[in-house]
Amino acid sequence: MSTKDYVEKDYYKVLGVPKDATAAEIKKTYRKLAREFHPDANKGDTKAEERFKDISEAYDVLSDEKRRKEYDEARSLFGSGGLRGGGPGGGNYSFDFGDLFSGSQGGAGGGIGDVFGGLFNRGGRQAQPRRGADVETEVTLSFEEAVDGATVPLRMTSQAPCRVCSGTGAKSGTTPRVCPTCVGAGTVSRGQGAFALSEPCRDCKGRGMLVDDPCTVCHGSGRASSARTMQVRIPAGVQDSQRIRLKGKGAQGERGGQPGDLYVTVHVDSHPVFGRKGDNLTVTVPVSFPEAALGGTIEVPTLNGPGVKLKLPPGSSNGLTMRARGKGATRKDGTRGDLLVTVEVVVPKNVAGDALTALEQYREATASDDPRAALFKAAEGA
Ligand SMILES: [Zn+2]
Ligand SMILES: [Zn+2]
Repeated sequence: MSTKDYVEKDYYKVLGVPKDATAAEIKKTYRKLAREFHPDANKGDTKAEERFKDISEAYDVLSDEKRRKEYDEARSLFGSGGLRGGGPGGGNYSFDFGDLFSGSQGGAGGGIGDVFGGLFNRGGRQAQPRRGADVETEVTLSFEEAVDGATVPLRMTSQAPCRVCSGTGAKSGTTPRVCPTCVGAGTVSRGQGAFALSEPCRDCKGRGMLVDDPCTVCHGSGRASSARTMQVRIPAGVQDSQRIRLKGKGAQGERGGQPGDLYVTVHVDSHPVFGRKGDNLTVTVPVSFPEAALGGTIEVPTLNGPGVKLKLPPGSSNGLTMRARGKGATRKDGTRGDLLVTVEVVVPKNVAGDALTALEQYREATASDDPRAALFKAAEGA
């Protein structure tokens, strides 16, 4: 069976079944026709014999899933006579149909079938599936959203086949024709022998097909940008500038291909009170000098929760960091980091009245303790 037969014979018509007939429908119809035109039942009737042969040939192809697919492809490409007609020299093309389906002409791009598959993809079993493109986008989260995770709406534009021309780029009612320069390959060879270079065909810009009457919507590109909004779950604990990958949330695949991935670069707003250090939150709390010196219990605010009480040890220095366990950012496993509390001893700007008297008394009481004594000692020793 040559591919030429595929193009010239309409096996669906022979069996009288629609092009989208199921395997079961084809089998049922074939059996009925075969009984009707079987030579045993029509002895001496040459017309019935011919018909029986045609029916058998049609069934041979259509009952074999792989051959039926090849047949459909061949007909969708050349059934409308796209291959006939004169080239630049008016000559006929020698066209190796076998190469069409083995993909050996297409170079690295996955075969010529790919080129045609995209152009003629009008809802049928077609060439190789193609994975959708990866999509990049950005989102800004509030500090709290980043800590706890958030579901945010993302509006994305991506390239999709033009709806008006189904991606062919041709004006409605017309079809693209095979490029005569590269005979549909999309590439042409320059030079000879070992020095032959394959480069994209200039006439069709590597598409393998020419559009005489461009689609008015996409101007022949066959592509359209489509916008969609989708809700995306950003996991808890995301950091500022982190790029997260959401598998399968990118552009739709073609011909049943997997969708691409979505990459979201997250920006996190700063918080007036809290900071982040990995899974831990940070906060700086002012303490008074007596609190730092004598120790005591201080209350510290937490993110999205009631304050937490911490024991400040006596003699706490400025910059001492304490830890409130489990009051930090949510981790992937649902547990939480800690809240790191740094104390900042505040010095009153104006001291008066009883406080001034008390401080002056304190100064006298500690006059013999030089806070810089150790400093000088260390400087001399060095
Ligand atoms: Zn070309
Ligand atoms: Zn279009």
